[in-house]
Amino acid sequence: MDEIFRIAELINKSNCVVALTGAGVSTASGIPDFRGPQGLWRRLDPSKFEISYFHRNPDEVWGIFISTFAIRDDIAPNPAHKALAELEAMGKLCAVITQNIDGLHQKAGSRRVVEIHGSLRYAVCTKCGMKYPLAEVLREYKGAAPRCKVCGGVLKPDVVFFGEPLPQEALNEAVMLAELSDLFIVIGSSLAVAPANRLPFIAKRRGAKLVIVNGEPTELDEIADVVIRGRVEEILPKVVEALKAGYPERSS
Ligand code: NAD
Repeated sequence: MDEIFRIAELINKSNCVVALTGAGVSTASGIPDFRGPQGLWRRLDPSKFEISYFHRNPDEVWGIFISTFAIRDDIAPNPAHKALAELEAMGKLCAVITQNIDGLHQKAGSRRVVEIHGSLRYAVCTKCGMKYPLAEVLREYKGAAPRCKVCGGVLKPDVVFFGEPLPQEALNEAVMLAELSDLFIVIGSSLAVAPANRLPFIAKRRGAKLVIVNGEPTELDEIADVVIRGRVEEILPKVVEALKAGYPERSS
């Protein structure tokens, strides 16, 4: 409990709190992560998420995306997503930078969400760049990779595969937020994926405090000011409760 209060106190003392979330935020919603105990890497070859593999096997990769990331309407935000949305509504959180592609932060009500690995809301043509809402594409999905209605090119889920650059605008915004933050909280990420795992360094270099909330050790625990080990869907609501209960008192 001490660590919960410590985080609440840090949040209260800070002017610009920024969260960086990873796949661990969404496991309680039924979407597996990559590297956790039940992670996808235990049953899937990571090379299937490389862009070169997609170009060679688009039908198979579309099948993996549809089954794995559970592109279904019944996938809902969990208490971790909701707590972050609440923190923002309370004026205690400036933004969420997310590595996730599932759109659950927005579904929970978070308003400023920077998606550095793209989003499953869209599919994009690999030939002409035309974008389509994924829901529209899925209505016509029959087991093979969908095609562009304009040029016939293969469509790809509009997410960043291994070997692809990150969307520049989102990355710039994420770096700017890391630079502006005075408290940077990493939630549910192994911090094994670059360049997302550079953001905590950027924040620290500018003098921000670093908090890491994760079920397992991460690659940056050593440089964190506070590390909380546990389930994010249990810890984050407790932080919100502590803030609402007025503990600790706001220090001037
Ligand atoms: P990761 O799989 O490398 O790490 C997730 C971490 O979260 C692990 O250390 C795991 O132990 C921890 N974790 C899992 N469930 C938890 C819980 N309930 N409470 C606390 N900790 C928990 O994920 P990453 O760091 O985000 O990097 C992997 C990449 O995978 C990202 O680029 C992301 O785009 C992609 N990805 C996204 C989704 C999604 O959108 N939901 C799902 C899988 C992978």
